[in-house]
Amino acid sequence: MAEHYEAVVIGGGPAGLTAGIYLMRAGINTILLEKGIVGGSPLMTEHVENYPGFPDGIAGKDLMARMAEQAKRFGLVIREFTGVEKIGRSEEQFEIEHGEGVFAANGVVVAVGTESAKLGIPGETEFAGRGVSYCATCDGMFFRNAKVAVVGGGDAAIQEALTLANLASQVYIVHRRGELRAQKILQDRVFERGNMTVLWSRVPWEIKGKDQVESMVLKDTVTGEMTEMAVDGVFFYVGSHPSTAFLGNLVDRDEAGFILTEEDLTTRTPGLFVAGDARKKLLRQVTTAVGDGALAAVGLERYLLQTR
Ligand SMILES: Cc1cc2nc3c(=O)[nH]c(=O)nc-3n(C[C@H](O)[C@H](O)[C@H](O)COP(=O)(O)OP(=O)(O)OC[C@H]3O[C@@H](n4cnc5c(N)ncnc54)[C@H](O)[C@@H]3O)c2cc1C
Repeated sequence: MAEHYEAVVIGGGPAGLTAGIYLMRAGINTILLEKGIVGGSPLMTEHVENYPGFPDGIAGKDLMARMAEQAKRFGLVIREFTGVEKIGRSEEQFEIEHGEGVFAANGVVVAVGTESAKLGIPGETEFAGRGVSYCATCDGMFFRNAKVAVVGGGDAAIQEALTLANLASQVYIVHRRGELRAQKILQDRVFERGNMTVLWSRVPWEIKGKDQVESMVLKDTVTGEMTEMAVDGVFFYVGSHPSTAFLGNLVDRDEAGFILTEEDLTTRTPGLFVAGDARKKLLRQVTTAVGDGALAAVGLERYLLQTR
């Protein structure tokens, strides 16, 4: 028989952990299911400096360890395993299927975040883990005194390029436009550093090497000219998308796959709430994920009270 909980939270990032804290404090018997390591995307960043309450900033992993500890203090059961594969809905309850069995629940908060997008150029998959990476915090130490390229121009790209600049001898930022999208404070830091160069109006075309990455071919988006530059590593930050196939038609999505919610984070399925980066929203940050987690939990609490 399926193990039963009043609420199941899917995803252990800031949105899921906050939902867990609020649900447990409301006296709702809740389990949080995480397909990898609890902590979510902030584990991929060295330093979070825009989350209020930490005037000197805080390491992503430390912030998330604190959130997990807080959730556990209120009795949240956290299970790390292969991930939720399917959700079924009967009249009375949800059935949450995973690699090892099924959980039954009266309500669900989906907080699965997003995954790094792939550019799909030749060499990207072939050299993954051999010079191609999507996480400077995880892999940066392998590039001490090396030459690396960071592809992208948003906050995550520039923040991670700055992290790499503390280790690598040279960091090239490859950006398809003539200006960066990242916050001004981050851009200023790039222009102050001696070992960072922005390659404007350039897109990666191919990654080459033998056993490891040795070079990258770039195309100039204005002239069409191709150049090859020697690099030891390439870090991609070219966007992200949610993986929500397991929800089937329980939710509506936009054209990019982000889940559509109402303002109170309800979806087309009563009792199923969506919080954090996986939903269509204007700003994807820890602050907004935490706010979503609280809102979804309170919404679910009210739903459970009405349907008990
Ligand atoms: C490199 C980088 C740097 C960043 N820097 C900052 C910053 O400085 N400040 C800031 O505010 N924000 C930053 N962000 C953004 C911030 O991390 C996200 O907005 C925030 O983590 C979103 O929280 P979330 O809980 O919605 O999703 P996530 O943090 O992505 O967590 C989702 C969790 O769900 C799990 N999951 C996915 N699918 C399943 C499944 N099927 N079953 C079970 N579990 C599943 C995932 O493994 C993951 O742990 C950064 C992001 C990146 C990538």
